[in-house]
Amino acid sequence: MPADVYFADVRNQYDKHGFPTMSNPQRVQKLFEAADLGSCISEGDMVAIKIPFGGLTRQYGINPFIVSVVVEEVKKRGGIPFITETYAWHFSMSWGAGAPSGLMNIAKKGYTQLLGAPLIFADGIKGVHREVVPVDGLILKEVDVAGEIYQADAMIVISHLTGHPMSGYAATLKNIGMGCSARRGKAMIHAGAETKVVWNKEKCIFCLRCTRVCASKAISYENNEIRIDRDLCIGCGDCTFFCPTGALRMEVIHRHPEELAKLYKGQLCSPATEIQQIKLADAVKAILSTFKEGKVGFINDVTNVTYECDCSPNATVPIICDVGFLASKDPVAIDKAAIDLAIQSPGYPVGLASLLEDASPGVDKAGSLYKKLLPNDIYREDFWRIHLEAAEKLGLGTLEYNLKQVV
Ligand code: SF4
Ligand code: SF4
Repeated sequence: MPADVYFADVRNQYDKHGFPTMSNPQRVQKLFEAADLGSCISEGDMVAIKIPFGGLTRQYGINPFIVSVVVEEVKKRGGIPFITETYAWHFSMSWGAGAPSGLMNIAKKGYTQLLGAPLIFADGIKGVHREVVPVDGLILKEVDVAGEIYQADAMIVISHLTGHPMSGYAATLKNIGMGCSARRGKAMIHAGAETKVVWNKEKCIFCLRCTRVCASKAISYENNEIRIDRDLCIGCGDCTFFCPTGALRMEVIHRHPEELAKLYKGQLCSPATEIQQIKLADAVKAILSTFKEGKVGFINDVTNVTYECDCSPNATVPIICDVGFLASKDPVAIDKAAIDLAIQSPGYPVGLASLLEDASPGVDKAGSLYKKLLPNDIYREDFWRIHLEAAEKLGLGTLEYNLKQVV
C-alpha cells in the first residue's frame, strides 16, 4: 500500500496579490501537524532530533529556525527533546579534536542559542559510545548504533537532500544508516572490504602518537613493539592518519564477494558502491529496530540541493532549483518522493548544473554530474535506487507513495 508523504512547496511563495504566503519554518510546522509526527511522542519521552551537522566548511544544512520549530512541537506533546549528531568516520573528516570542539564551533556560529534544546553527541566525545545491535540484514549481521540513539524513546529525523557519490542522493536513509551509526558502524558501511591496521617496525620512530590518538585504546606499546588489539579496533583509520612516518596502514584482509551483490541485483554499477548502499539499508534496519513501532518520524529539506553532501567543501552552488519540504512516517517513501521531486526540478542556471548538456526537468542532475565529472565509469543516473530498493526489501517502507500537498 502506498505511504502518505506530505509536501510543502516553496515555489508557492506568493499569493495572488504578490504577498509572501509563509516562511520555511512555518511550512515545516504545517507539515509536522499534517503528517501527525506528534503521534510518535508520548509524555516524558526523551526525543532525539537527528540532524546532519555537515563539515566544518559546510555552506548549507538544516536551518536552525526549522529545528527550533520541531523542538517546540516535541515539547508541546510532553517530549524532552535533544538535538543530536554523531562523530565522522575518519578523524580527517571530523570535528577537529572531537565532539567538544565540534560543539564549540557550532556554538560560535550562534547555532545552539537558536535551537531551544541541548546538543548531545550521540556517540560520545570520541565516537566510541555505542551498542552493538544484531540485524538480519542483506549483508550486515550486526550494527554499531550510537549510544544515545539507542537510549532515546522517540526520534524525529530531519534530513537535507543532497547528491552523494556513494548513494546517488542522500536524505533520510543516509541520515539514519550512516548518521546514527557509531564510528565502527560507519566504517563497516563504507568499507567495500574488511581491513586491519598493520604496523611496519622498520618505519616506526616510536613517537607513540598512535597510542594517544586511538579513541578505542586499541594500540599499546610493549617490549619495543606497537600492538594493535583487533577486538578493540573500530577501523577508523585515525592512527594511520596521524602516524608521521607511514608505519601504520590499513590492509585489506577480506573483500566482500561480488557474487553477493550479483545475487541481490542482476546488474552491478560498482561492487563497492552497490555493497555500501545495501549495507546502509541494513544499518537503517538495525537502528530503527531500537525504537518501538511508530516512534520515529521523518522530515526532508529539498532546498539548496548540492552535488555533494554537507560534509564536503564541494557542496557550494545548488544543482537544482529549490523544491520544498516533506514529512512522512515512511523513511523509504519520503526519500523516493524527495528524489523524484528533485529530478523533476530544473537545473540551477549557474554552477555545476550549467556544465550539463541537458539539465531539464526529468534529468537526474546529480547522477549526470557524477558520470561526467568523476574519473570512472561506475555511475548511472539512477544508482540511488540501490539503497532505496534494499530498504524496501528489508521491510522498512515502500517506494510507492501518495504525495499530499499541504501548502
Ligand atoms: S605513530 Fe607511527 S611512528 Fe609513532 S609510534 Fe605509532 S607507528 Fe610508530
Ligand atoms: S587502531 Fe587505529 S584504526 Fe583501530 S580504532 Fe585505533 S585509531 Fe582507529
